Amino acid sequence: MELIDIGANLGHESFAHDLPAVLDRARAAGVVQMVVTGASREGSRQALEIARAHPGLLFATAGVHPHHASEYTEEADAELRALHAAAEIVAVGECGLDYHRDFSPRPMQRRAFERQLQIGVDTAKPLFLHQRDAHEDFLAILGNFAGRIGPAVVHCFTGTEAQLRECLDAGYYIGITGWLCDERRGLHLREMVRFIPADRLLIETDAPYLLPRTVRPLPSHRRNEPMYLRHIVEELARDRHEPVAQTAAASTAAARGFFRLPVARAAFEKQ
Ligand SMILES: [Zn+2]
Repeated sequence: MELIDIGANLGHESFAHDLPAVLDRARAAGVVQMVVTGASREGSRQALEIARAHPGLLFATAGVHPHHASEYTEEADAELRALHAAAEIVAVGECGLDYHRDFSPRPMQRRAFERQLQIGVDTAKPLFLHQRDAHEDFLAILGNFAGRIGPAVVHCFTGTEAQLRECLDAGYYIGITGWLCDERRGLHLREMVRFIPADRLLIETDAPYLLPRTVRPLPSHRRNEPMYLRHIVEELARDRHEPVAQTAAASTAAARGFFRLPVARAAFEKQ
């Protein structure tokens, strides 16, 4: 089984001491490629650095998360555009709207989102999107860019069935995390993941966050890692009533097409 983790925050400080071991465990668990999420100016620089150190295995996104929208200056815009010249940066984002926490004022969030969608238009790169409690504004802003932006994934989708259908109708891809494996808050998602077309269903750990609660035994440190991606695909397959190998193969093909990733080198080439 070959899997692609489309969202891992490998620049997070919790990976600073053992990233090579984390990547080895991921490969041993069938994760052949990972996209490192860039979610701030500094984080995007760092994501590129990490991707460059692991060519063919790691790729990166560059963007400013709505939490950091207040750092979205003209200088930040120019810096992001410069980062996007790098081939290892395969998507614009993480960007979007988060009215759940409101860490940045909403007008600033909307502006930073629009500026990054424009980068998407100008670079023709796919979009890695974040949305929480802002569904209406999110779709409205994206709608203004319809026909100009490339493919877009709504990462870590946790919304309602009606919201899911609106995202699908608009043509977006859906990213599913270990939220699905949470028996306390993921149950509604289990009911509706079967509505997502296989060629628009992407999987992600969002490591180090969202450790799947189906991991047994739960590691005491609670850090999520790409090697646990298998738990998400297994839960997805159960909920979609299809063989795990089918879910895995379809999501890997969808991810490779979405980010235009090269075919992964076989694991044995490492030795
Ligand atoms: Zn996010």
